[in-house]
Amino acid sequence: MILGVMADDFTGATDVASMLVRAGMRTVQVIGVPRDAAPAEVDQADAVVVALKSRTTPAAAAVADSLAALRWLQAAGARQFYFKVCSTFDSTPAGNIGPVAEALMAALGCEQTIACPAFPENGRTVFRGHLFVGDELLSDSGMRHHPLTPMTDANLVRVLQAQCRQRVGLLRHDQVAEGADAIGHQLAALRAEGVALVVADAVDNQDLMRLAAGAAHLPLWVAGSGLALGLPALLAERGWVRLDEQAAQLDRLDGAAAVLAGSCSVATQAQVAHWIDAGRPAWRIDPTALARAEPVVAKALSWAAQQSQVPLFYATTDAATLAETQARLGVAEAGALVEQALAAIAQGLVAAGRQRLVVAGGETSGAVVQALGVHTLRIGAAICPGVPWTQAVTAPDRPLLQLALKSGNFGGPGFFAQSLAAA
Ligand code: ADP
Repeated sequence: MILGVMADDFTGATDVASMLVRAGMRTVQVIGVPRDAAPAEVDQADAVVVALKSRTTPAAAAVADSLAALRWLQAAGARQFYFKVCSTFDSTPAGNIGPVAEALMAALGCEQTIACPAFPENGRTVFRGHLFVGDELLSDSGMRHHPLTPMTDANLVRVLQAQCRQRVGLLRHDQVAEGADAIGHQLAALRAEGVALVVADAVDNQDLMRLAAGAAHLPLWVAGSGLALGLPALLAERGWVRLDEQAAQLDRLDGAAAVLAGSCSVATQAQVAHWIDAGRPAWRIDPTALARAEPVVAKALSWAAQQSQVPLFYATTDAATLAETQARLGVAEAGALVEQALAAIAQGLVAAGRQRLVVAGGETSGAVVQALGVHTLRIGAAICPGVPWTQAVTAPDRPLLQLALKSGNFGGPGFFAQSLAAA
């Protein structure tokens, strides 16, 4: 095992793992820092991604969890490290990207790192330090309404500086475009000026490849999944890994499926609407009914049992309804109620024999995976950029289980049906 990745949420972890697999690295994802020795799958992998739930926890907890993951990855043999953050740089004013990055740097004795959430294939680009989502600045995008991490400033140097003790600077696009050597020189120049964290521009995959080559000497990268695209080739060049075309191979599985959506992101709203418009079965989870302790989960499961087509369960709603619910029930309380309900439905579905689940939402995926008692995932082929099918590593006597864990804002309107067809 060569590459150790610490991801700040579940879907972010599968996203970066998918990128590595696509480039030929055999990749395994572990859910949280394993308490015991590494599972056998870890020994056989080139890269291990530790999925944390550290994006929205208090900063001190996020730091402690990330350091624990780092130590575990080091003990398992990792030599290169990657702190995976969201491609929309989701964070609260208290962090957690800055505090975690600085703690990891200190632990690794690393004087400088780059920070680049760009993922051009998914429309996330960084120019002059400003993050764009498609054609819009981050702060004009749907992310400004995110339930937990509303992003209201697109200037990443400013956002990250507010979270860091050390200096944050910018590697501009014209410098990135000059190639790996120029990037290396510019990083050194910024270092001489005391810049420890360097936000890097990237508007396409070529920029990411140049950045990866120019930052190859840094033991830690802070990045979205895009930058991982260039990493396997670099590690192969160094002779650290042998790339494998079969890295994405999972077992063939035809078991029954279900879709669970707990994200209110714009893309998920469109996906739920698309599913319903196509006349497919859909069951709405009402947070108010949950708050009244009505038997929502039991009703949903008995409805599911009667469906001949793949059922969708969704709490997804528009920004106005979400704000109204949150004002009434509390942001965290409403979020937790919905997460617990969807996780309990997932448990019931698996108990009833369903073997393939598509889950929309980062926090939602975390809750579902935890409820299902899944600790390790093998990463398969991508359904769309950033979202692979995965297969739970289960005991040999247990039924197989495959999961597609989608970050809220990923995928086109037809993503749910597309993922079922891709399985
Ligand atoms: P994303 O990947 O889009 O950020 P997440 O699952 O990470 O999605 O976060 C969405 C949060 O919003 C979760 O905590 C979820 O439980 C909560 N949520 C979903 N639907 C509703 C709703 N109708 N009312 C209140 N909170 C909701």
